[in-house]
Amino acid sequence: MNDLADQFVARDQAVVWHPYSAMDAGMPVFPVKSAEGVRIKLMDGRELIDGMSSWWCAIHGYNHPQLNQAIHQQVATMSHVMFGGLTHEPAITLAEQLLALSGDVFCSVFFADSGSVAVEVAIKMAIQYWIASNQPGKQKILSIRHGYHGDTFAAMSVSDPENGMHHIFERALLKQFIVDGPVSCFGKPCHESELEPVKQVLVESDDQIAAIILEPIVQGAGGMRFYSAQYLTGIRRLCDEFNVLLILDEIATGFGRTGRMFASEYSQVTADILCLGKALTGGYMSFAAVLTNEQVAGTISNGEPGLFMHGPTFMGNPLACQVSLASLDLLLKSAWQDRIQTIEAELKLGLQPCSEYNYVKDVRVLGAIGVVELGFSVDIRKLQPQFVDAGVWVRPFNHLIYVMPPYIINQEDLHYLTRTICTIVSNFQEPT
Ligand SMILES: *Cc1c(COP(=O)(O)O)cnc(C)c1O
Repeated sequence: MNDLADQFVARDQAVVWHPYSAMDAGMPVFPVKSAEGVRIKLMDGRELIDGMSSWWCAIHGYNHPQLNQAIHQQVATMSHVMFGGLTHEPAITLAEQLLALSGDVFCSVFFADSGSVAVEVAIKMAIQYWIASNQPGKQKILSIRHGYHGDTFAAMSVSDPENGMHHIFERALLKQFIVDGPVSCFGKPCHESELEPVKQVLVESDDQIAAIILEPIVQGAGGMRFYSAQYLTGIRRLCDEFNVLLILDEIATGFGRTGRMFASEYSQVTADILCLGKALTGGYMSFAAVLTNEQVAGTISNGEPGLFMHGPTFMGNPLACQVSLASLDLLLKSAWQDRIQTIEAELKLGLQPCSEYNYVKDVRVLGAIGVVELGFSVDIRKLQPQFVDAGVWVRPFNHLIYVMPPYIINQEDLHYLTRTICTIVSNFQEPT
């Protein structure tokens, strides 16, 4: 059994490139045999408690009978047809449900293949909106530091310049406006001065700016920060004042993760363009959606060139739509608010001991997201096997150990997860 697992590792390392990694034999990689509920089962026989939901996605756990059934039934009917000129019930129903779920402030849904593509689509929509409004000078996007919006070029151009390594792509990358973001944490008021960097750019360059793009409340892969809800309210106000669109990227935060269906509900702010992805399919496949309001959709459709210029080959894939519908059904029929509240309380309690160590900068929890921020960057090559040996799956990056478990995790597993993090954190030595 172990031999077989070792063979897979060797074959993998010879030919497969993994996310943000190098083709060398030093990066640990663990072959998975199967996954079920909150357990990831390795080929070597070990079982790991999942703390990552496979990067925010698998909110109902793995191998869920209802999600499986949705896919099986759809496969037997039709796996895919092109979306140019053809349509089908799964796409129509999903669009209707997403619009209803987001409070009927949007009127149209554009399906995309992944989160990054959804962000590209949102940016293209914003640019086309201003072209159709006879203000073709408004083509730039304004964003804040520590954001993450994906890995494609336009998405990268609005993500954090340092995390996104903008210097590497400097000559190829679109130049956008990236300014300092909020300092006040979630739950705290936001001082007017925190909006000053954004306001300053708008005062000077609003004739060039099509939209502001932000992750509402939680900045994910750019630093796992939870910021003041008032900041977002202030941003909406500035967008209205200076005539720029607001794109909210709820790809990570959507579908209950923060304790609200959408994180923007904490600020009672609505976007002009909303990006959804990740947990949309319950973690079954890559899929995303871009929702727009009447003004944006109408202006693009009625102005030059009268079409929105985007159309992925696998747009509106029926399997993805159907499993999204099943995932939404599971979520809405569950007591998800209670679940997230319980997870939040347990994460707070369970991770609290980490804050005792002087090399731990911060421990923070919001909804089903728990973060231990260290004063130094971790060595993933050393740390990952420690977590696996302890029987949990977490994937730290830089100076962050963080968890966002499937919503179905029980108290015992969650305790084990947080206890393991505390133990591993307690073993760190302050680097000298
Ligand atoms: C993951 C993520 C994306 C990119 O989604 P992909 O499906 O990986 O392309 C964009 N925005 C946010 C906030 C994300 O967390």
